[in-house]
Amino acid sequence: MEKVVIIGSGCAGLTAAVYTARANLKPLVLTGTMPGGLLTTTSIVENYPGFPDGIDGFELMQRMQKQAERFGARVEFGAVEAAEVLGVPIKLTVDGKSVETQTLIIASGAGHRHLGLESETKLENKGVTYCATCDGALPMFRDQPLVVVGGGDSACEEATYLTRFGSIVYLVHRRDELRASKIMAERALSNPKIKPIWDSAVMEVMDVDVGEVTGVRLKNLRDGEETVLNCTGLFVAIGHVPNTQLFQGQIDMDDAGYVLPKKGTQTSAEGVFVAGDCSDHVYRQAVTAAGLGCAAAIDAERYLASLSQ
Ligand code: NAP
Repeated sequence: MEKVVIIGSGCAGLTAAVYTARANLKPLVLTGTMPGGLLTTTSIVENYPGFPDGIDGFELMQRMQKQAERFGARVEFGAVEAAEVLGVPIKLTVDGKSVETQTLIIASGAGHRHLGLESETKLENKGVTYCATCDGALPMFRDQPLVVVGGGDSACEEATYLTRFGSIVYLVHRRDELRASKIMAERALSNPKIKPIWDSAVMEVMDVDVGEVTGVRLKNLRDGEETVLNCTGLFVAIGHVPNTQLFQGQIDMDDAGYVLPKKGTQTSAEGVFVAGDCSDHVYRQAVTAAGLGCAAAIDAERYLASLSQ
């Protein structure tokens, strides 16, 4: 039986791995389908302390993994299909294999929120994307009009990044002011290649029949008027959804699916701890996720020590 299993290999999971590995607990880290987590899709991370010139998100995650492995963490590519966390031991099914553990650290992060349109799903990877840094440089987006939807930091960051490639970037937001931090909002709105389109919602991505994005049908939410905006790419940046579906009904969560810890990082299930974006909808930064990963590791270590007393 494992002492510690960590679900997720983003900042929270890998920091928990460094700490539990250094405590000689030989943690098993299950990477999920996106090893390294969401940060691997960011280009330069400018606000992680210790890197005055910034660091590539992918490289930062590789370094964290190396650091955890150096102390004995085992990082395995694997997606958890089922979890029974209310009994002792905690039981997981990972790619068809059964894994039992005394403690579990849930650091499963969050995925991109979708608009929920049928046309969006049909045109995913055919011009609809959720990551400008991953896809922005593709030939189909070069010197073409592009649309970013959203009003937060992600949308501003994506729009600003896309000005390197697109002929013009439309920033479509459902309200008439951005939610983004001041610095990000100002950077986006002062960019001559970014044109904000306020009070508008994307109703349809065109053209499913053609099999590629040719434009979006927008609705002005104030007067109801519909217009078509030509573009070859739709970049959806409307926030995230926590990856916690596996634990629904077993541990306490809020209505949006964020895990609600009981004390520190301890969840409502014994021996189950939580860290990072799957429990934090307030800060959601790489450094706060890492901090919570450290806290979860310490809580798990203390819990294991209490069992042997
Ligand atoms: P967010 O702050 O939650 O913003 C989501 C945006 O999408 C909001 O403007 C929201 O509109 C809009 N939205 C939500 N659902 C929508 C829907 N169904 N249709 C249309 N629009 C919808 O998410 P985020 O921008 O991904 O940022 C998440 C966290 O990461 C934040 O804490 C942010 O500071 C951080 N972050 C930081 C950086 C950085 O510092 N470099 C970069 C990216 C993200 P409303 O405003 O009307 O609610």
